[in-house]
Amino acid sequence: MSRIHRLSTRLANQIAAGEVVERPASVVKEVLENSLDAGASRIDIDVESGGVKLIRVRDNGDGIAPDDMPLAMARHATSKISSLEDLEALGSLGFRGEALASIGSVSRLTLTSNAAGTGSEGIAAACEGREMDVVIRPAPHPRGTTVEVRDLFFNTPARRKFLRTEKTEFNHLEEVVKRLALSRFDVAFSLRHNGRAIHQLKAGTDELERRRRVATVCGPAFMEQALYIENERGGEAAYGLRLWGWVGLPTFSRSQADLQYFFVNGRVIRDKLIAHAVKQAYRDVLYHGRHPAFVLYLDVDPAQVDVNVHPTKHEVRFRDGRSVHNFIFSTLHRALAEVRPGTAHVEQLPDNLVPAGDGTMIDTRTGEIREQGGLSWGVQPSAAAAGGLPAEGQRGTSAAPSGAYGRYSEASSAAGQAQLAAYRQLHQALPGQDSEEDVPPLGYALAQLKGIYILAENAAGLVLVDMHAAHERITYEGLKAARDQQGIRSQPLLVPQPVAVSQREVQVAGEHADLFRRLGMSVDAAGEESLVIREVPVLLRDSNLEQLLRDVLADLIEFGSSERIEAHMDEILSTMACHGSVRANRRLTVPEMNALLRDMEETERSGQCNHGRPTWTQLGIDELDKLFLRGR
Ligand code: ADP
Ligand code: MG
Repeated sequence: MSRIHRLSTRLANQIAAGEVVERPASVVKEVLENSLDAGASRIDIDVESGGVKLIRVRDNGDGIAPDDMPLAMARHATSKISSLEDLEALGSLGFRGEALASIGSVSRLTLTSNAAGTGSEGIAAACEGREMDVVIRPAPHPRGTTVEVRDLFFNTPARRKFLRTEKTEFNHLEEVVKRLALSRFDVAFSLRHNGRAIHQLKAGTDELERRRRVATVCGPAFMEQALYIENERGGEAAYGLRLWGWVGLPTFSRSQADLQYFFVNGRVIRDKLIAHAVKQAYRDVLYHGRHPAFVLYLDVDPAQVDVNVHPTKHEVRFRDGRSVHNFIFSTLHRALAEVRPGTAHVEQLPDNLVPAGDGTMIDTRTGEIREQGGLSWGVQPSAAAAGGLPAEGQRGTSAAPSGAYGRYSEASSAAGQAQLAAYRQLHQALPGQDSEEDVPPLGYALAQLKGIYILAENAAGLVLVDMHAAHERITYEGLKAARDQQGIRSQPLLVPQPVAVSQREVQVAGEHADLFRRLGMSVDAAGEESLVIREVPVLLRDSNLEQLLRDVLADLIEFGSSERIEAHMDEILSTMACHGSVRANRRLTVPEMNALLRDMEETERSGQCNHGRPTWTQLGIDELDKLFLRGR
């Protein structure tokens, strides 16, 4: 047997590095967080070979005082907290004091820094040998810090073997930069790879500059199809919560969960509770197997979250997870239900113009902000009040007069108005319409195409509706509303079904007896480790009840809530709606078509069918003009 001995400093740090330093991306995360903690307003990142060969991060933050240099690279040394209480109201991203020690143990690390008020021109520090002794030499450096990490894992071949291709490693690294860039709009970031500029993000403090950054980081397509949301819960509640940010319309879903950013008090978080709340909010509008896209910020009293749950701090624990879950779910659920013709709609735009989320536009070529692009956007009350369509006066006058788009709108709106006037003369039978505002968002039906689409005219131009998809959603929402009004009809099982579960599950079922009863299910304890299902909603009589109950209990234990029973009933209603809806190839009369359009305007979530496909689209006069090269 070997004798007990102390690990060398380097070896101890290497072991700790196992948790924090997985790949170049994790180095960048730690180093950038340090720059942000140091109050930097500009951070330049230079990497070579996916970050394996070199990661160099330069910031203009507070710098490190010469005397502190040796400690910066020592484990369990930090300037950020000094007592356990500090953790409660943490304002910094780091606090464990082990990132630099870990990184230094598995790479060639140099710190160069110049702190204000120390009278030094700058000094550099590197650590060497088994005990990682710090060697210090003078090195000129402007105010701030440069961290240079070379040859990552050069001394830990086992780790090196897990690295992927340069491209993959760089993608991970870039993702880290994007996340941090979305968490701090007020800081300028630049990223270069192998000498090539990848990102140049200017600092911004106002709304518009934030939107510009989101559009740059997440792609203009996301911004074009995102709703801006903002909700606050304060006052009587035990503590305040604020959720704001952008959520992709259901029709902008992704095949992977790769455009999902969630920040809690400015910290990038991947959290099961939050993921579940968001997923639940999209349940009814997303195509099966698709993932929503979002950039969301949750602000909460720091004392209500524990960030010290995981070494990389990607997870948090909420003191009152259930109410955070509910708040996120209900905010998003509400916002998504509002997505229907007239409250939110998306128009095709000139390629260089990206909606900023509130009716203003960003010109991606010049970075210029346009006050009015002549389109409605978002669930803002103003847009809703105008029936989702821009008021005529606004269109021509407030669009940037010199821009091509501005001139376009003016011309097109005049044309649109003339057309509409002519149209009204032809259709005097229509309910008295005397001003543009009275034209409903989806306009009036003109014709049916191939028994599949309805063509309609509204103030903006042509509306195309997939009549089966639209009717399916209307029927489905109707069935759900009827169920909610009349209550869920349930029926006793001829043979009550026993389900073997754990003691904890029996207890949880008891605690949520109300939930089950409300949903038409009666579930009783039948022993210490057994439940019995006695009554179920009529709709669910043919379902796998045991599986459903188990899944619901699992949700309740993990998230404190479950929507599975509703979800399951909804699925069945959705199938019924599909069968009961107008099939393609049925001729509709003009009044029938108009009735369908009006129903769509009234129906929640009617922008997508039950499967998340869009139900309608708008072809504006300007797009039609473009097709015919008019007004060029
Ligand atoms: P932690 O961030 O948890 O404190 P680190 O190992 O990441 O631990 O950093 C150790 C210390 O080094 C920090 O507490 C901070 O004082 C100092 N430091 C690291 N990077 C920078 C930087 N870019 N600017 C100023 N100080 C820094
Ligand atoms: Mg740190």
